[in-house]
Formats: sequence, structure tokens, C-alpha cells
Amino acid sequence: MTTKVDLKDQHSEREMDNDLLADALVRLSTIAKHLNISSHTLQALSQPLCTLTSYISIRKDNGESAYFKAYRCRYNSLLGPTKGGIRFHPSVDQSEVEALALWMTLKCAAVNVPFGGAKGGISVNAKSLSALELERLSRSYVRAMADFIGPQTDIPAPDMYTNERVMGWMMDEYETIKRVKAPDVITGKPLVFGGSVGRTGATGTGAFLCIEALAKKRNWQKHKQTVAVQGFGNGGAQCALLLQKAGYKVVAVSDSKGAIYSPEGLDILSILYEKQKSRQLKAVYCENSVCELVSHKVLTNEELLALDVDILIPAAVAGVITEANAGLVKAGTIVEIANGPVSAAADSILHEKGVFVIPDILANAGGVIVSYFEWCQNRQGELWSEEQVTTKLSDYIHKAFEQGWQRHVSTNIDMRDAIYAQALERLTLAIEAHGTHDYFNAN
Ligand code: GLU
Repeated sequence: MTTKVDLKDQHSEREMDNDLLADALVRLSTIAKHLNISSHTLQALSQPLCTLTSYISIRKDNGESAYFKAYRCRYNSLLGPTKGGIRFHPSVDQSEVEALALWMTLKCAAVNVPFGGAKGGISVNAKSLSALELERLSRSYVRAMADFIGPQTDIPAPDMYTNERVMGWMMDEYETIKRVKAPDVITGKPLVFGGSVGRTGATGTGAFLCIEALAKKRNWQKHKQTVAVQGFGNGGAQCALLLQKAGYKVVAVSDSKGAIYSPEGLDILSILYEKQKSRQLKAVYCENSVCELVSHKVLTNEELLALDVDILIPAAVAGVITEANAGLVKAGTIVEIANGPVSAAADSILHEKGVFVIPDILANAGGVIVSYFEWCQNRQGELWSEEQVTTKLSDYIHKAFEQGWQRHVSTNIDMRDAIYAQALERLTLAIEAHGTHDYFNAN
């Protein structure tokens, strides 16, 4: 069946430039047009199931009240309870949360994790709050959302500027409200509350496994592959570290303030150590606890994106590669650890340039895959070993990558389109299994 639903038209009233959901739907529509995707599937994904918005407040340490906009979107539950992180960031708005929830829907479907997609967030600069204010905010969020989330309906997890400590507070608040023990209501918790080993590093590890899978296909000599990583958060830093350990040459990394670049390669472990100590990104080499600056150049984030490297890893925020700067990209491969770092309009420019993109819904799926393992452990009352988690994570990533690769090669479509096709086919199967379309079509 050919696609009759035009998601672009349905959202034409939205401002495309700063509306992440509109951009996500344009891409979905465009990809679905190339592929033989059922109009029912596209229709089902054209709007979120439901979004809860709330105006939550906390008492600040100085006694004053502060108010924040909070959101939780359950985008689609065809494949299971909805799943997705909660981010604390000033950019959070309804459109961003809904776009991210759509991507969670596609991500879980693409890697065959039995969850639907969700996302939540608070519009806040988390760095401006004390630890106690952050705890009050996390608990306030759960008080607003307690009837919307649940172990079999919607399961949150960490995202930008939230971590296992925040998840621990949230689980505790949920259990207090519901008067039950419910470790399976949230993933990415501290180990002592039923968190899973391997969850913290899972996003970066998943991206690294994708790059290793590509390296095999391409017969890469790793020491000749140069890498630039934009964003030195959990996913970006972990992936950079694994790449360097495996022999790749990581020549540039950045944080929100700027980038450091050395064509000889950076020592990621030293940079991580220094960042944890001084909270600054410095091009250092450390022996034991003694660190020395090494020769390097300071670049802007924009300059990092245009570096002449083999692999570019945007691991910071959405929309960093757009129509305006896609032409400047020199890397042959982009690995999207951030959600939505490349805008829909930039896709065709990168395609023309022959850039190979491992899309976010595969490259950063390691996080939700291990979240799924955590949920399984909680529901079965089990604790898996690190080896079990690592082996299973690698199985899931390799299967999804291989399926996408086969489709990419056999039908000559981009890897993004191939992974989207994988996700959309699985969602189509669920729609058919749920409903009576086949019966009516047959008649
Ligand atoms: N926030 C992560 C993501 O964007 C993880 C979500 C989860 O573990 O549920 O994929």
C-alpha cells in the first residue's frame, strides 16, 4: 500500500525552524514515501497518544518559590509500555518532548525492544539549582506525573542533565505515593535500588558497537580512523574512551564551551579525569594524578563539526547539523549519539556528499536496551552479571545493525532509511495484529 498520509501537511501550521516535532514528522514522511509503508502506520505516528503538561513548583533554599514547566509525553504504545528518559534542560518544551518521544517509539521498534515510546522533561537550568533543590524538583515532577507513569504503562529513565541519583529520588517518591515497592517503574536507578550493571555506560557502548560493526564491513584499519566527538556528556565521553582503547585516533572533543583538537590524538581517560576534577575540558595527559597540558588547538563547536576527520560523532544537542552547515561536513561517517543532531533538511545534502550516517535510533539505542534489561531484572527479581548484560547488549545492537546493513546494501537506501524501515515494519505488524485491517482489506 502506498502512503496517503502527509504528515507535513498535518503540521504545516508549525514553525519548522524551531519545531523539533515538525522536523521529525517531515523526515518520517519523506522516508515513508521512499519505502512501502502502510498509511495506517503513518497515521498512527502522526500525533502523540497523550502529553501531560504541568506547572510544578519547589521551595528554594532561600525560602522563595520557583515554578517550572514539566512535560511527559506517551507517544505510542503499540509495541508495549511506553519508555523514555526525562531531561532537565532550558530548551525543553512540548514539541521537543514529543519529537523525542516519537524517536523513542522508532528506536524501540528498530532494535526490537518490546516498548513503546515516551519522553519527559522540565524546562530548567539544572546547573542553577543546589542538590537539595534538584531533589525537591525531581520529587515534585513525580507528584505531578504519578498517575501517568507506571511499571506497565510508562517507564521513565535518565536523559540530559538527569542521572541515577535523580532516578533514585523519583523511584522513592513514586513508591511513597503509591505505597508499594516498584523498582520497575523507572530505569537507570542506583544499583542498590535495583539498577542494572552496565546501564550508565550503555549509550556510549552501543554507539561504539555500531562503529565496530561498520569497521568490520569496511575493513578499516582503526589506527588510521580519526574521530571528532561533539559533546562530552555520558554517551560521548564513554564512546570516545572505548574508541581510543580500541585503537581509533580521537582527535577532537568538545563541551558546551568549546572544543580541543590535536591531530596526534587526545588521551580521553586523562581528559575525563581532569573534567571530573576541575569540571573543565582540557587537553591534558595524566600519569597517576599528575596532569600536563599537551599541544592542541582550541576550536568552536561549529569548527569541530567541519573538521577533516573520518568519523564525526554529534553527542550533544539536537539540530547541530542543518541545511546551513551540512555542506561544510568533511567526515565520511556520522554517528548520531545525540537525538536528532541532523535536521531533516540536512539529510539530502549529506546524502549527496556520500556521508554514511548511523542514525540516532540505532546509534544511541544502547541506553534503552539496557533499560529494558533492567526492567526485566526488576520484574523477575534477578540481578544479571556484567558479562550477561554486555553480551546481550552486543547481540541486540549487532542484530539491528546487521538487518539495517543488509537492507542498505540490497536496496541501495541510506542506513537511516533502512533502520526506519525496520522500525516501521515492526510497528505495521503490531497494527495489523491489533486490528482488523487485513479482514477488511481481504474483503
Ligand atoms: N534517554 C535515553 C534515550 O534517549 C534512554 C531512554 C531509556 O532508557 O528509557 O534513549
